[in-house]
Amino acid sequence: MKKIFSLLCLVCSLSYHSHTAAQTIRIDRGGDDWSCLIEEALVKIAVTDQESYRLVVENVERISMITGDRSTNEPLPYGRGTVYICTADLKSGLINNIAAALVHESYHLSIWRLIGRNNLNRWCSEEITAYRVELAFIQRLPDAEPFLAAHCLRMIQEHRSKISRGECR
Ligand SMILES: [Zn+2]
Repeated sequence: MKKIFSLLCLVCSLSYHSHTAAQTIRIDRGGDDWSCLIEEALVKIAVTDQESYRLVVENVERISMITGDRSTNEPLPYGRGTVYICTADLKSGLINNIAAALVHESYHLSIWRLIGRNNLNRWCSEEITAYRVELAFIQRLPDAEPFLAAHCLRMIQEHRSKISRGECR
C-alpha cells in the first residue's frame, strides 16, 4: 500500500512540476506523506481552474504545515509568501479541502503584496472576498464535497454580521 502511495506521489510530483515550469513552490516535508497531499492539491487546482492556479503560483513561494484547525499565511511585502496548511485538514486527507485552503490563503498573500498592512483595518471585508474567491474555485470542482461550499457561505455570513455589528470593517 505504501509503495502504491509513493508511486502516486511520484506521478503527482511529475505532473505538478510540468505545470510549474516557470515558478517553483517549495513544499516542506512533514506528517505522513503530507507533502504529497499538498502536491496533489496543487495539481487539482491546476487542472480545475487556471485563474486560481495563477493566484497560487504568483503569490506562494513555500507551503508548510501548522498544528491546529486553521490554515494561515506569512506574507513578504514585496515577494511571494508562505502558506501554512493546518494539520486538521492534512489529517483529513481531503484534497479538495486542502486545495480550497491554498486558494484562500493565496488570495490573502496577493492582497498583502498589493496594499500591505493597511488592509488590516478592513479585515472582515478581505475575509469575505477571500471566501468568495475560495467559493468560486470550489464551484468549479467537479467533485466538491458539499460541506466545502457550505463552510464558505457560513463564513461570509459570519463576517457580514461582524461588519454590521461594527466589530470590524
Ligand atoms: Zn482568510
